Amino acid sequence: MIDPFGRTITYLRVSVTDRCDFRCVYCMAEDMTFLPKAEVLSLEELDRLCSAFVRKGVRKLRLTGGEPLVRRNVMSLVRNLSRHLASGALDELTLTTNGSQLPKYARELKAAGVKRINVSVDSLVPAKFEKITRWGKLEKVLEGVYAAKDAGLQVKINTVALKDVNESEFDDLIAWCGREGFDLTFIETMPMGEINYDRNDQYLPLSTVRRDLDARWTLTDIGYRSGGPARYVACAETGRKIGFITPLTHNFCESCNRVRLTCTGTLYMCLGQNDAADLRAPLRASEGDALLEAAIDEAIGRKPKGHDFVIDRDHRAPAVPRHMSVTGG
Ligand code: SAM
Repeated sequence: MIDPFGRTITYLRVSVTDRCDFRCVYCMAEDMTFLPKAEVLSLEELDRLCSAFVRKGVRKLRLTGGEPLVRRNVMSLVRNLSRHLASGALDELTLTTNGSQLPKYARELKAAGVKRINVSVDSLVPAKFEKITRWGKLEKVLEGVYAAKDAGLQVKINTVALKDVNESEFDDLIAWCGREGFDLTFIETMPMGEINYDRNDQYLPLSTVRRDLDARWTLTDIGYRSGGPARYVACAETGRKIGFITPLTHNFCESCNRVRLTCTGTLYMCLGQNDAADLRAPLRASEGDALLEAAIDEAIGRKPKGHDFVIDRDHRAPAVPRHMSVTGG
């Protein structure tokens, strides 16, 4: 699959549910309306869709959400998709999770061929963690992170940089990841969906964070890419990598290799644009995949050049009305 700007699409991110057991303040409103259950694809349909993408050249699949591990029976999807790892059609099957269900699932994920996972941890202070997630328990998440490590999964921690909220903790997060052998990626808040806060109050440019970290840590730019948008530095003091995902201070669209599927079968060709393709209708229209594959080709032919996220006092409305949990962060 090659888009109109010559980018080869090899990476599919799938939001297997838009529901989540947390309500992170930058991600969701407190009283979220979720997609109607009747419109959500079955796990078998999600498998069929993912498999069509694998046939068309996707080499990396990431399950996300919402919280992927709260979807009932999600492990059956993971186990079924792992046949593409075994056949060599897929290089990587991975997951982004808030970690709350990892005590239960870490071993099964490893057994199904998952090698690396991303776990979102925005604070190591229990009260602050609970405030950011509105009701998440840090203790449970850390139990999950350590269960993943014990199961032999490589863990990367994702931290959204939030002004005046967790910015005083970045050194602690870097040191903790160093001790535990985890890579760490900082993410800028993106203006997606209505939340109950002004994003100007949360937004912390990572260019500022990087300058600040440089005063205390020896960070060297490296060319490493994980197949995603992060740019990495090596941290001499910890021996680990630190990534920066900077959709606002440094647009990364020129190397975009991915598209995103929602749990209702809508394909978004760009995280930060509204244009989308419905794949549920062609999926359900026939038992064969010809219609579906034609719809995928048509959608890739419409992939836009990039997003235009802006957060400043002149842009109060979100760039896209849907929340990250719908498209899959
Ligand atoms: N529930 C899982 C988790 O917590 O990782 C997967 C879904 S969550 C939407 C994926 C990632 O997106 C998390 O790291 C989260 O912090 C991040 N995220 C959510 N909303 C965001 C926003 N508006 N801007 C930047 N990152 C966001």
